[in-house]
Amino acid sequence: STVATAETSLTILGGGLVGSLLALYMARRGFPVQVLERRPDPRLAGPIEGRSINLALSDRGWRALEGVGIAEEIRQVGIPMYGRVMHDQQGRLTSQPYGAKDQAIYSVSRAGLNRTLLDLVEQQPGVAVRFEQQCLNVDVRNRRLELRDVPTDTVYEQQYSRLFGADGAYSAVRGALQKTDRFDYSQSYLEYGYKELNIAAGPAGSWQLEKHALHIWPRGQYMMIALPNLDGTFTCTLFFPYEGPHSFAALQTPAQVEFFFQEVFPDAAPLMPELTEDFFQNPTGSLVTVRCFPWSYQDSVLLLGDAAHAIVPFYGQGMNAGFEDCTILHQLLGEQDHDWQAVFDTFERQRKPNTDAMAEMAVYNFEEMRDRVADPRFLLQKKIESKISAQYPDQWVPLYPQVTFSHTPYAEAWADGQRQDQIMARLMPHIHSEADYDQPEVQALVAREMAAL
Ligand code: FAD
Repeated sequence: STVATAETSLTILGGGLVGSLLALYMARRGFPVQVLERRPDPRLAGPIEGRSINLALSDRGWRALEGVGIAEEIRQVGIPMYGRVMHDQQGRLTSQPYGAKDQAIYSVSRAGLNRTLLDLVEQQPGVAVRFEQQCLNVDVRNRRLELRDVPTDTVYEQQYSRLFGADGAYSAVRGALQKTDRFDYSQSYLEYGYKELNIAAGPAGSWQLEKHALHIWPRGQYMMIALPNLDGTFTCTLFFPYEGPHSFAALQTPAQVEFFFQEVFPDAAPLMPELTEDFFQNPTGSLVTVRCFPWSYQDSVLLLGDAAHAIVPFYGQGMNAGFEDCTILHQLLGEQDHDWQAVFDTFERQRKPNTDAMAEMAVYNFEEMRDRVADPRFLLQKKIESKISAQYPDQWVPLYPQVTFSHTPYAEAWADGQRQDQIMARLMPHIHSEADYDQPEVQALVAREMAAL
């Protein structure tokens, strides 16, 4: 009946990556779903240009896509990256695998992934996606949304019975929860911004750098990274201080940008023919971490994805964590038979320590990528860690593969990683080369550490 439909219907605010995947999960469970999205339908913008912005998709994200049967389709258009390639200031390269031989993270187009998800959402019976609907306000007590129809600039109200806030780092739903009793909230910005730039394709759409890698130009206080696209280009991201001697503030003219890139990224600069246009046309993005709790209001509102836990991008886990939210919510619904209050309570209690840990790891990895990966001692340490892991596979899974290639809760992975760091701090003073690992006294130290783990 219509009454039952109204009561069971779900409203999802935000048709981005997490909102559209959540819509798919919920529609396939048989709920009527309405998605409200501020932006125009991205599928009407014509074919995706080659230079679409990409993201690193890893195992937690893949599992969530497998849950709705679309992992294979996405994998077809993803590019596996098996490790990092570091570029020093003389253009010399070093590399570091991400995990075991066949383990890779995948570079996928953000727009392409969002479009694929939206196509599938709209094929589901009982789902309506409404674009260009901006949420201005949420009255959580009376379950009412204040919306603006963007094309006509008309404001109207709409009731909901259950609302999912998948509206990103600057969530309007979270904004409404902030006005409820005992709601914890914090946000913190890095003193760094980011700028997306491009490396051109070579002849006949070839890749001018190693295709199957994530490239890093670590420079101590800043860095640039690049991920491959299908058309031979790479999307680069410069992570750079807002202020200071090397900063956005210090680069004001095309000539300054050209000079700076030729000096500090000498092997990349010649591959970036549109550098100065990109630099001055593309916006400078900021990098925020958002923490809040609770993520729910009674049994009627739940936050997920960036709306609940926005993190800085250095572990490539923001979307993956948001997709994992969908997997976990789906599992809990299965177990708890639609007692929404119980599901929301369990969900936020289970997820919060994990996304907090992920937020910390993301900041930690920034220091590693921009600074430590350029240090030969650090690279030696990573080699020793993989030897330990090969010798004691049950006791030692390094942090990166645990986060990226496992489903171990983030908080457990982070605790393991911190224990491993302490052990390495004790071992490394005894190790000066890879061969030292096989010395009897080093082997004895390692054995003692493993016994204590
Ligand atoms: P969003 O993608 O932000 O989607 C929110 C949606 O809600 C949008 O479509 C928006 O238009 C809509 N919306 C917002 N407000 C309203 C409103 N008031 N009314 C109606 N609609 C609204 N993650 C990875 O896993 N791997 C990576 O490699 C990676 N790289 C990144 C690189 C950078 C530079 C950045 C900034 C992030 C990166 N991330 C990465 C993180 C990832 O982008 C986010 O975690 C992910 O997009 C979160 O998805 P979401 O759906 O929760 O939010």
